[in-house]
Amino acid sequence: MNLNKIIKRIFFIAIFTTLNIVAIAGHGVVQKPSTDEVLKMLQEGNKRFYTGKSTFPHITAERLKQAGTEDQGNHAYATVITCSDSRVPVELIFDAGVMDIFVIRVAGNVADVDEIGSIEYGMAHVNTPVLVVLGHTQCGAVTAVTHELHGEGHKLERNIPELVDNIIPAVERAQEMHKDIHGDEIIPYAIEENVWQGIEDLFMNSPAVRKLVQEKKAQVVGAIYNVGTGKVEWLPVEKVDSILKKVNSDPKKATEAFAK
Ligand SMILES: [Zn+2]
Repeated sequence: MNLNKIIKRIFFIAIFTTLNIVAIAGHGVVQKPSTDEVLKMLQEGNKRFYTGKSTFPHITAERLKQAGTEDQGNHAYATVITCSDSRVPVELIFDAGVMDIFVIRVAGNVADVDEIGSIEYGMAHVNTPVLVVLGHTQCGAVTAVTHELHGEGHKLERNIPELVDNIIPAVERAQEMHKDIHGDEIIPYAIEENVWQGIEDLFMNSPAVRKLVQEKKAQVVGAIYNVGTGKVEWLPVEKVDSILKKVNSDPKKATEAFAK
């Protein structure tokens, strides 16, 4: 490292430390809920939603005033990546409001560079203790990829193939695991595999997120939202651990946590 780089680095560390002290002095040290507490909040919020007992919290003028004057990092408790589908309104699903959830929405809830960068921001800077990778029933993106692989595809606009290519290994794996299932009946299995694929792509490309999870500072969970009932099905947490193990032993995983 040359002298210039060293000076630059010292300068950044000094600025960063000062900003942190200012933040702490301004707002007090804020204790975020634990990962277990957040999962419970999400589960209870979803239950209120699908049983018609939503409380619509954190949408008053007082909350907006808070949003305009305070740091979201002291409030938001979860990062959620889900599909752009209009049937998946994230805050409503978890009966949450303003400054509660850091949301990334993209067709097929795929985790490519822009989405992973947003997740890193949500987890490392907004400090949300939990990330939910939320697939949904009847996902059009997973359906389109399935049809394409079954030779029933149709012409796609120029940017769509590159968007949905992350879903291909998920559909192929679902088909491999359930050889007796044919046609569109494979789609629900592919939707679940696509959640696992998103988590794998995230771990492969984000050493920062791997570290947060390994140090138990954050938890990643998979889930599937049922567009017809409003209910979130939470997928087994052990599977996330096994994906992390698999990625850790993969020499192709990214290892530099920080941008140069
Ligand atoms: Zn979808």
